[in-house]
Amino acid sequence: MAVPFRRTSKTRKRMRRTHYKLSVPGMVECPQCGALKLSHRVCKECGYYKGREVVNVE
Ligand SMILES: [Zn+2]
Repeated sequence: MAVPFRRTSKTRKRMRRTHYKLSVPGMVECPQCGALKLSHRVCKECGYYKGREVVNVE
């Protein structure tokens, strides 16, 4: 089995890791209340989807 000739430097390791990101996919702002919500889902803050209330929040 091949063995790495040089150890990966701190810089190289860090540069490689700039590509892995911690992100929540598909978050958009709710047009109704401005809270971050998942796109194509009912907003859990105000219960609105496509401009109308679809969940009864008392
Ligand atoms: Zn909302």
